[in-house]
Amino acid sequence: MPRPRVSTTPAIVLRQRKLGDADKILTLFTANRGKLEAVAKGVRRSRSKLAGHVEPLSHATFQLAQGRSLFIVTQAETVESFTPIRDDLDRLSRGLYACEILDRFTETGEEHFELYRLLLDTLRRLSVRDDIDTPVRYLEMQTLDVLGYRPELDECVTCRKQLAAVTNYWTAAAGGVLCPNCRPGELSVRPVSPNAIKVLRMLLHARWSDVERITIDPDLAVELERALLEYVRWVLERDVRSAAFIDAVRRPRRGARPPVGPVARIADA
Ligand SMILES: [Zn+2]
Repeated sequence: MPRPRVSTTPAIVLRQRKLGDADKILTLFTANRGKLEAVAKGVRRSRSKLAGHVEPLSHATFQLAQGRSLFIVTQAETVESFTPIRDDLDRLSRGLYACEILDRFTETGEEHFELYRLLLDTLRRLSVRDDIDTPVRYLEMQTLDVLGYRPELDECVTCRKQLAAVTNYWTAAAGGVLCPNCRPGELSVRPVSPNAIKVLRMLLHARWSDVERITIDPDLAVELERALLEYVRWVLERDVRSAAFIDAVRRPRRGARPPVGPVARIADA
């Protein structure tokens, strides 16, 4: 019998599910072969050497053997365990959401090194920053862009006129922003403030080193979160389960006011 092909790759564990009595199937996002599924055998037994290295969010080096239908994990060694994320429900909810986004948006076997780097960078940002929303917004927008779902943020998606710095309308269904003249009465469209459009453009075009310097006030953070989640749901044609987890564990945003409309401010940090 030919020896099974073995390869070593860094990967992030997106999720895991039980298999039989002692095993787990891991969904891994690898650096050079995109998403794949691999069986971690015996990992639910107390003496398993693998167990500590295969938890969701772990960044580890995996040795994988090509099995008949799935990969088999033969070794795993944690590189980063992201303890600050695991120790804080608020951070954990964002980390799991980031993993779910990449899991939902990608198919197994497609190589996505750019998205692998983006997820890894996002988990590092979630480990250290006070503002844990902006890294997630950046991940959402960059993922949409890389996979060809970039929203139109410069001109009205209907009349194609340049958007003015007024309240416009957000429409995931039409792929971006509608001007006030084209806003249909009957469709549910969400008002989007000039400041939100400014930040959305930065999330799309700017490098993280520029994005991380902006301070986003609580009302604007809510506006951006709702707009991008709506967009992501529309593209995926399904809900993102961990979005509900974020809501359930969310700390009250400091200074948050009840939603009274697009009254928000961006200030340079
Ligand atoms: Zn228009």
